[in-house]
Amino acid sequence: MQEIEKFIRGFNRFQQQYLSESARFDNLRRGQQPGTLIIGCCDSRVDPALLTGSDPGDLFVVRNIANLVPPCTPDAPPGVTSAIEFAVCSLEVARIIVLGHAGCGGIRALMAPRRLAEETDFVGRWMRIAEPVRQRVLNELHHKTADAQNKACELASILHSLDNLLTYPWIRRRVDAGKLVLHGWYFDIGSGALLAYSSRKQEFLPLVCALDAESAAAA
Ligand SMILES: [Zn+2]
Repeated sequence: MQEIEKFIRGFNRFQQQYLSESARFDNLRRGQQPGTLIIGCCDSRVDPALLTGSDPGDLFVVRNIANLVPPCTPDAPPGVTSAIEFAVCSLEVARIIVLGHAGCGGIRALMAPRRLAEETDFVGRWMRIAEPVRQRVLNELHHKTADAQNKACELASILHSLDNLLTYPWIRRRVDAGKLVLHGWYFDIGSGALLAYSSRKQEFLPLVCALDAESAAAA
């Protein structure tokens, strides 16, 4: 019950902040025109709007276990693909950010699968999208610890999602025409850093450094 009260107080604040000034919400009452699609994980610690300080109307958000994008096939899960299609083809967003994170339970489940009955293992079935990533990590990093393998898989699965986005012809066309840009971001919960994939350097580099690194630089 305490949580519900917290939510109601939160909505009151939202109402005051956004709805009491008519000008601020006027355009949004007529419709949305977000410039960015974020594909993030369901994890409760990784709220895209909260992490990026966004306001209502800024982000179109798709969240699923481990921020995966299935490749474009006739049997791709329509819940995810329809949201991506709507954001790209109807809202015409200018960028897509695939936002992964450290300590991802979905990636952990992929790397150390439980033995559940096929018909009730929804997480296992969903995570099969990233099975090629798991195989690659196990092949290349078989000598590393489970934690190191998980982190490598978290990062590589972001790139896998970006590659899969390009299998959708309407995404590929817009990217080739320079109308749509794809980004791969990684929130390192442990250090507090935000990393972005650099296709030029072919690695994830800090967009925002860890808190410790910042205070060390300022000292
Ligand atoms: Zn996650």
